[in-house]
Amino acid sequence: MSSQTCPECGGAMSYDLSTKHFTCKKCGLYVTREQLYDIKMKVRERTPDDKRKRRQMQDDYLEWWLSSKH
Ligand SMILES: [Zn+2]
Repeated sequence: MSSQTCPECGGAMSYDLSTKHFTCKKCGLYVTREQLYDIKMKVRERTPDDKRKRRQMQDDYLEWWLSSKH
């Protein structure tokens, strides 16, 4: 059995064979294998999105700064 880490808090998760659910020992997240996979995918998508947004904000600011100087 491969051990899973919680996508929300990074804590160790235990698998319950009878309920087929993973439970986070730290924050109490209770999910199936499929839900866990979905959350992990979302977390992975979230990171580059934020970076792109921040980058866009910096570009907007630079544009504003340059245009306001003249
Ligand atoms: Zn957790």
